[in-house]
Amino acid sequence: EKKELEQYIGKPTITKDGVTVELVANIGKPEDVEKVLQYDGEGVGLFRTEFLFMDRSAMPTEEEQFEAYKKVAVAMNGKPVIIRTLDIGGDKEIPYMGLVKDENPFLGYRAIRFCLDRKEDVYKPQLRALLRASAFGNIKIMVPLVTCIEEIREAKALVEEMKKELDEKGIAYKKDIQIGIMVETAAASLMADVFAKEVDFFSIGTNDLTQYTMSVDRGNDKVSYLYSPLNPAVLRSIRHVIECGRKEGIMVGMCGEAASDPLMIPLLLAFGLNEFSMSASAILNARKLITGYSTKELQEIADKAMSFATTKEIEDYLKEFISRS
Ligand code: PEP
Ligand code: MG
Repeated sequence: EKKELEQYIGKPTITKDGVTVELVANIGKPEDVEKVLQYDGEGVGLFRTEFLFMDRSAMPTEEEQFEAYKKVAVAMNGKPVIIRTLDIGGDKEIPYMGLVKDENPFLGYRAIRFCLDRKEDVYKPQLRALLRASAFGNIKIMVPLVTCIEEIREAKALVEEMKKELDEKGIAYKKDIQIGIMVETAAASLMADVFAKEVDFFSIGTNDLTQYTMSVDRGNDKVSYLYSPLNPAVLRSIRHVIECGRKEGIMVGMCGEAASDPLMIPLLLAFGLNEFSMSASAILNARKLITGYSTKELQEIADKAMSFATTKEIEDYLKEFISRS
């Protein structure tokens, strides 16, 4: 099977009716780029920077972060590298940050909420490191867990402030660096039309979007039967976000687990998703699946799937479709 997939190395990711999408990778450490190149990823769709902060006793310095981001940018040689700013709290704890465990960690003090509260010691150094590294490749900045417009405006203003600082010191960075958000909360999804006017791209985080749409802890086995991106509510949310992004002409990607799910891929293609980000080892199989579809033919399949009221019916229908395609 590995041999069979190897024939997709170097092939474009284009559907039978000529729609090109980007097939990119999720990484957690700079070293992971080796696998991205090995599996012919067309870029990095999500660099989870929290891994640079984990398993150590102090925060990585701006310099250490700069080196890590630069390494990825250089290795990817001009291909897009979307780097997510620190997403801690929730299920990801970092002892030295002085965080007290929230009663409801997933609804609490985490990600962009934490970063905007810790501008001087946490967020500004990270943004400066990202900007400096952007001189060495095609880095884009992604903000996690955004729920309201003020958050992204504040983050963008901070990026502008850091750019000014670098200008004054004569330090190079990518002047037109793109800034996007993860759409992974119900609020961000509902406001996607407004967010689309504020940012350069969306990346749908289905791991959290499913959790926050279904009100189900993503790690709790007792309620995991409710946790599915194929739930019609989650699918409506995803479709809505893609439509809003497309209407505004910005790129819409997905970096949650659903992006590599063979049942999801035909729906996402029909909805018009531009970018699929997944673990590197899933890329070639996704390319095989995507190149086998025509988005025009998938419209009918998606319409039918969206007409069902339950996850089970949607799943059964898509399984049946896949088995005969
Ligand atoms: C997501 O929420 O879908 C996502 C990609 O981010 P994480 O899994 O790191 O929360
Ligand atoms: Mg998330």
